[in-house]
Amino acid sequence: MENTNEMTIVFDSRPVNEGLARVTVAAFCTQLNPTLEEVADIKTAVSEAVTNCIIHGYEGKVHKIRLSCRLRGRELLIDVADEGVGIKDVAKAMEPMYTTKPEKDRSGMGFTFMEAFMDEVSVESQVGKGTIVHMKKAIRR
Ligand code: ATP
Ligand code: MG
Repeated sequence: MENTNEMTIVFDSRPVNEGLARVTVAAFCTQLNPTLEEVADIKTAVSEAVTNCIIHGYEGKVHKIRLSCRLRGRELLIDVADEGVGIKDVAKAMEPMYTTKPEKDRSGMGFTFMEAFMDEVSVESQVGKGTIVHMKKAIRR
C-alpha cells in the first residue's frame, strides 16, 4: 500500500526516556507535514501514555516500554505498551480526575488529555499482564 510506514522502539521505563518517546514520535510524523500544534498535541499524548507506564504500569521499577507508530494515508496510529500491573476497570480509569495515586500529586487527567489531543484513544488491559494504549490522529493538510 502506498504511503504506509511503520516503526517500533523499545526502551527502559525511566523518566529520562519520556523525552526520547516525544521526539521520536515527532520525528516520525514529520513526513506528513503536520502543523506545530498537531506535533505538540501528539507529543503531549505520548508523554501522558509513557508516564503512565512508568508510574502506574511498572510502579517505578525498570522494565520495557514499547512505542509503535504507523502511518496509514494521512492517519497516524500510535501504540504505547507495557507489561506491568494492568488496569482492573478501564472505563473508570479513563474518567476525568480519576487517579489511583492522589498521594503522588497525580491529577487523574492523563487519559482526558490523550482523548482531547488525539482523534481516538482506546485501551486494552489485563490485570497482571499489562496495558496497551492505542491512539489515532488524522493529520490534515
Ligand atoms: P495524571 O496523568 O493526571 O498525572 P493519573 O496518571 O493518575 O494522573 P490518568 O493518566 O488519567 O491519571 O490515569 C488514570 C488511572 O489509570 C491511573 O491513576 C492508574 O490507576 C491507571 N493507569 C493508567 N495507565 C496505566 C498503566 N499503564 N498501567 C496501569 N494502570 C494505569
Ligand atoms: Mg497519567
